[in-house]
Amino acid sequence: LADTHDDQDGPGWFDEGALVAVLTAQPLDRTLDYRAPEGGCAAGAFVEVPLGPRRVLGVVWGPGLGDFDAAKVRSVHKVLDVPPMTEEMRIFLGRAADYTLTPLPAMLRLATRAPGLGDGPAMRRVFARGLAEPDRMTDARARVLDVLDEQEDAVFTQKELADLAGVSGGVVKGLAAQGVIEERAAPRDLPFPQLDPDLPGKALTDDQAAAAGTLAEGVAARSYATTMLRGVTGSGKTEVYLEAVAACLRAGRQALVLLPEIALTAEFLDRVEQRFGARPAEWHSGVTMTERRRVWRMIGQGNAQLVVGARSALFLPYRDLGLIVVDEEHDTSYKQEDGVLYSARDMAVLRAAIAGAQVVLASATPSLETWANVEAGKYRALSLTSRFGPARMPEMRAIDMRSEDLPGGRWISPSLKAEVEARLERGEQSLLFLNRRGYAPVTICRACGHQVGCDHCDARMVEHRFLKRLVCHQCGETKPVPEVCPACEVEGKLAAVGPGVERMGEEAAAVFPDARVEVLSSDMYSSARALKARIAAIAEGEADIVIGTQLVAKGHNFPKLTLVGVIDADLGLQGSDLRAAERTFQLMRQVAGRAGRAEAPGTALLQTFQPEHPVIRAIVAGDEDGFWSAEAAERRAAGVPPYGRMAGIVLSAPDVQAVFDLGADMARRDGPLRRIGAQLFGPAPAPIARIRGRHRVRLLVKADKAAPLQAALSDWLRQFRWKGDIRVSVDIDPQSF
Ligand code: ADP
Ligand code: ZN
Repeated sequence: LADTHDDQDGPGWFDEGALVAVLTAQPLDRTLDYRAPEGGCAAGAFVEVPLGPRRVLGVVWGPGLGDFDAAKVRSVHKVLDVPPMTEEMRIFLGRAADYTLTPLPAMLRLATRAPGLGDGPAMRRVFARGLAEPDRMTDARARVLDVLDEQEDAVFTQKELADLAGVSGGVVKGLAAQGVIEERAAPRDLPFPQLDPDLPGKALTDDQAAAAGTLAEGVAARSYATTMLRGVTGSGKTEVYLEAVAACLRAGRQALVLLPEIALTAEFLDRVEQRFGARPAEWHSGVTMTERRRVWRMIGQGNAQLVVGARSALFLPYRDLGLIVVDEEHDTSYKQEDGVLYSARDMAVLRAAIAGAQVVLASATPSLETWANVEAGKYRALSLTSRFGPARMPEMRAIDMRSEDLPGGRWISPSLKAEVEARLERGEQSLLFLNRRGYAPVTICRACGHQVGCDHCDARMVEHRFLKRLVCHQCGETKPVPEVCPACEVEGKLAAVGPGVERMGEEAAAVFPDARVEVLSSDMYSSARALKARIAAIAEGEADIVIGTQLVAKGHNFPKLTLVGVIDADLGLQGSDLRAAERTFQLMRQVAGRAGRAEAPGTALLQTFQPEHPVIRAIVAGDEDGFWSAEAAERRAAGVPPYGRMAGIVLSAPDVQAVFDLGADMARRDGPLRRIGAQLFGPAPAPIARIRGRHRVRLLVKADKAAPLQAALSDWLRQFRWKGDIRVSVDIDPQSF
């Protein structure tokens, strides 16, 4: 892999004493000038610089600006022993900052989130089992060896090993001196095993091979293109993009596969291992700190060929990225909703365009954004037409709840019940899908009508019987279910209203007394790992009826599952969110795709009170194109994304008057926005008007597709000072509008 940082004569090199601009992750609105240290430094070098009394991490961004008092400019303290940030990465961070209107330091923070980045290469003493036998076996020595034998792949520092074995450090040292145990490289410096792109893969069908070939050519040509890879679940999309990964490995370039966090299953990693003979590097919230440090360093050295990760893996220091796959590209979790608000899909495209890399956006139900880009000729489209093998898309039917005979407080209709019973008799699995965590969405007082809400948010508290508490899904606050109504103080009248998955579990257990019923919800598991393990066990057949939220809608194969019952297909169609129809359509198709993956064909039943609703009709008819053209026409007429541009500006503060006053002032001074013909709406209460005690007000800006929205926004925002406790966040292309 190309490495230019040793080129000490090139334009990217600064000799000792030269002025350099250093970007730090500190909240400053500019780079700071320093002098290059003894030995000089390269553009992009990771450095430690003095800032006031502290030393902070920074990156040499370019030549110094020279606008400080030259006598006061301090020197770079030291250059860290990691490869410099590539120019491509610096350009990427700069453009990503411009696109999302995020200050560059906040962008840099995303790119330097490796723990202990500044620690240098110092090795920990790490011990693994050597070959020699000890001259004499003692109890203490045996305990040390037991620890090592029990955890074959693990490596320990001397102290960890002694602590685990309950012996003194001397025992460990003694064994090391005899060569019974030996020092190995610390894991962070262990390269990843080589992946072999030439192991035999599956024999691809014609349309799979054609799709894979197109992608492979692009990777080899080092050219940028984005491809929508569309095909129903099970059509072989993964098989196709793994071929593109193989092409990338052969070309000696790095590949990144992004998955929604929850879809990062052992199943997928096993599949990579089968195809390439070794496991890829992983990057997501479940990866340990030591491992993250290793992954970050190895990617930077070009010693990790394939990374499988969640959206933040886009900000890792690849040397030569040739392919980015965004699997399940429509998934809403790709939009970061905290801190820097970015869409991983957009950032993947941006990064690839700079790197000369291929992007694959894979989905059974692509987003309207992606469709529009295909339509506009910006993205290529590849389709896999049929499901691989015998499995087919399930048969879909609506159950008209208006004509079902069902007592109040019950949600499993007689029609659905009959279908589940048929599955039970055949030993097949059923999934009852409800996208609502907890026991019941509303806790209401039957005496006065009061609904129990969160004290800090404008949201209802949701009863979770499993946790025996009421939970706010906005801020996580919990409290015991009160015995007395907080409003009218009448006792014993609080009632749970509406269905949540926990309550569906109760109903299913009552309706199907002989079945193994299992509720699958994230808050019942202590960790993502435990949840995934349970999902895998269920896929093996450890339950007859699974009740789940959108968790189960993605990621896993359930070969014995032949029926999906959607408890409330109308749920996502309510509310004022313009993307609601799109989301419902995708979710329903995704859920339905869980049924009938293996030999047995599946059935999906949608319980609805509005079977004539266009979205429900399109789902039942399997009319994807029909749905999208109707949806596209509506959005185009309204001038909203993807046919127009929007930004949401949310102001928040504990003081409601302060945010409204500022919002009104901003709305008055909208000259820069008017100059590009943009419209401004608001200030109005944000969709959730209060979170964690902060009042939230939103302004919406809507502009033409071609208008320079970001430039106008920053001119506009520059006019205001955020005083006191006010926070401002800018969301380009917000999820809801
Ligand atoms: P998708 O990603 O579209 O859901 P997958 O790539 O996971 O589809 O394929 C579904 C299943 O079919 C997997 O078990 C996969 O190994 C298998 N499969 C796909 N294509 C082929 C093929 N050409 N030959 C054999 N098995 C295949
Ligand atoms: Zn709350």
